[in-house]
Amino acid sequence: MDTHHNREHLAADVQERFLRYVRVHTTSDRHEDATPSSKRQFDLANLLADELRSLGVTDVTVTEFCYVIARIPATDGVASPALAFLAHLDTAPDSSGENVHPRVWENYDGSTIEIGNGLRLDPAEYPDLSRFVGETIITADGTTLLGADDKAGVAEIMAAVKYLADHPDLPHPELEVIFTPDEEIGRGVDKLPLDQLHARFGYTMDGGIEGSIEAECFSAYAARVEIEGYVIHPGSARGKMVNAVALAGRFLAMLPQTEAPETTDGRDGFYCPVEVHGDYGKATIDLIIRDFEESEVKRRIAYLEHLAGSLEQAYPRSRVSVTSRKQYLNMRDKLQQYPFALDLVQRAVAETGVTPVMEPIRGGTDGARLTEMGMPTPNIFAGGLNFHGPYEWIPVRSMVRATETILNLVQMWAAEVPASTPLPKLEPR
Ligand SMILES: [Zn+2]
Repeated sequence: MDTHHNREHLAADVQERFLRYVRVHTTSDRHEDATPSSKRQFDLANLLADELRSLGVTDVTVTEFCYVIARIPATDGVASPALAFLAHLDTAPDSSGENVHPRVWENYDGSTIEIGNGLRLDPAEYPDLSRFVGETIITADGTTLLGADDKAGVAEIMAAVKYLADHPDLPHPELEVIFTPDEEIGRGVDKLPLDQLHARFGYTMDGGIEGSIEAECFSAYAARVEIEGYVIHPGSARGKMVNAVALAGRFLAMLPQTEAPETTDGRDGFYCPVEVHGDYGKATIDLIIRDFEESEVKRRIAYLEHLAGSLEQAYPRSRVSVTSRKQYLNMRDKLQQYPFALDLVQRAVAETGVTPVMEPIRGGTDGARLTEMGMPTPNIFAGGLNFHGPYEWIPVRSMVRATETILNLVQMWAAEVPASTPLPKLEPR
C-alpha cells in the first residue's frame, strides 16, 4: 500500500489550508437558538464548498442550516459501502476566535515558546511538546484561540480530497465529506439530514494528539432536583418554616465529594451540580451525571432519589423530587458491533508511523451522537492540543499523519469491506 503519500507535498498543502481556515471567524454562540448559531459559520462553509468544486467534486451542497455535504463517487470497481468523514466548522465560544493570527515555529528546538501577549508554552508544563522537537509547530499569538479544534480536521479532510483528486488511480469507496456547524455548543448533528446521506459509517476528525482514537465516551444524563419548602413569615417561623434554599445547601453537601469532576479522572464518573436557583419557597438544582457505564449513571440517579427521600423524611413539610433525562450514551457498545471499523482505523493510524492509542474520552462527541442515531462514527485525532484557549498548538506532522490516516483508511475500506457488509439501521431521534 502507498503509505507515505509524498509527505512534503502533503505537509505544505495541509499547512497552507490550516493557516487560511483558522483566519475565518467561526465562533459559535450558545445563547442563540438558530442553526447555525452564528451566520459567520457560512463564510467557511461557502469557502470550502467552492474549494471542493474547484477540486473537481461536482456534488456539493451547503444546506440552509450550514452543513457542507459533498460526495465523491467510488473509483471503478469498488462496491464497498460509502464512508463519511466529518469535521466541524465552528470554534469554541470560551475564547475569542476573531482575528486569529497563527504563528509558525519551524524546527522547534525544545525550549519554551513565547507565543505572544506574555503567554508561554513551557515544556515543563506541557510535556507533549518534547515529542515534537525538530518539527513545525503552529500556535496563535496569545490573544485568541488557534482553532485547531477543528480547523485541523477540516484541513486534513480537504488535503485528503485534494490528494485523491491528484491520484485518481487510488481506490476508494464512495466518500461523503461533511462539515458541520455548532459542534462546540453540543448541536453539531441536530440538523444533519441523516436519512439523505449515502454513508452509514463515518469517522470524525476531531480528536487530540497524534495517534489517539476515541471509540468510547461518557454516558451522560442530566438531573434536576426540585425542592419545595414551607413558607411562613420569618418572624414567626420557629418550628414551622422549611427553607428550600437551606435544603438545597444540605442536598449539595450530601453529594459524595470523591465523585466530583474536580476529584476524578480516568475511568471514574461523577456528579456535577451545574446550576442552583430559587428562594426559600422553592429551589432547583441542576446536575449532570457522567460515567463510562450507564448502570453507574443510573446508580447515581438512584442515590439522588434516596437523598431526596431522606430530606423529605427529616423535613416532613418539604417536597423533594428528582427527574432525569438521557443526554447521550457511550458509543462503545454500538461500535463494537462493527469491529472492522475499529480495526481498520487502528491499522490506518499505525501505517503513518505512530502508535494508535484507544482513549476513552471524558466528554461526548458528535460521533457519539451519530453512533447512537445509527451511524457508527469513531473519532480520529486531528493533532491539536490545549483546545479552546490561547494555549492551543498543533504540530504540522500530526496534521500530515491525520491526512495519511484518511488516505490509508479509504484504500483499506475499498480493499477489505465487502459490498455485502450489513449496514447499520438509522434510529429515530
Ligand atoms: Zn472539536
